[in-house]
Amino acid sequence: MGKLLVVGNWKMNRMPSEAEPFLRQLREQMPAMQHVTVVVCPPFPSLPIAAPVLEKSPIQLGAQNMCWARGGAFTGEVSPAMLRDLYVTHVILGHSERRSHFHETLEQIAAKVRAALDNGLIPILCLGETQAEREAARQSSVVERQLISALEGLGEEQARRLVVAYEPIWAIGTGKTATPDQAQEMHATLRQLLAKHLGEETARRVRILYGGSVQAANALELFRQPDIDGGLVGGASLDANEFLAIVAHAHSCA
Ligand code: PEP
Repeated sequence: MGKLLVVGNWKMNRMPSEAEPFLRQLREQMPAMQHVTVVVCPPFPSLPIAAPVLEKSPIQLGAQNMCWARGGAFTGEVSPAMLRDLYVTHVILGHSERRSHFHETLEQIAAKVRAALDNGLIPILCLGETQAEREAARQSSVVERQLISALEGLGEEQARRLVVAYEPIWAIGTGKTATPDQAQEMHATLRQLLAKHLGEETARRVRILYGGSVQAANALELFRQPDIDGGLVGGASLDANEFLAIVAHAHSCA
């Protein structure tokens, strides 16, 4: 397994004017770590503010979404090359909030994953089941469909750079975390699916993050699971001390 990865997803929170002091604090307190990669994903208007603050720091910059097209008549959208121009390295794609509120389809998400990889960005592909799907014991088939559709057209070499984030929808922003056993079981299923479609070596290299009410209090047990390679952190990433404590737990497991 490679490095652990901890990603903070600010969602639509924090004003651009608040981003700089917050990131300065994070930067000052973030230790340089060999085996943990930390990424923060502020909203688009804060990216140009974040880039110079994070330059030469151990924290990398991510975006929360992106268009699959290279450019042109796509009002309101942001292209992969624009993100690269702002020193963005990672991009969250297919978050359940985008799938549900903005009706993003499996085809659109697959096109975004391809566009991110083609443009040198690391896609963080989010997938996960609803409460009703879990109650109907359909969680494995739901995530399989989400995963396989997003792998469409990817070569093994490209797919190795992919990051997958398993985020059960019932655990996002609810304070209800999947137990370490529930999360590990799903991560192992995802790893097997990756092996089946892309080979064992690629499956070993793809990092699979857990997301859904990750906090300092539960991060350690989650990160200790053999197939959990880090976390996608929403609410807790807005509190610098809480986020730093989560990163410290990743460091102790790396
Ligand atoms: C997320 O934003 O992807 C997320 C998992 O949010 P939270 O940690 O707040 O549940």
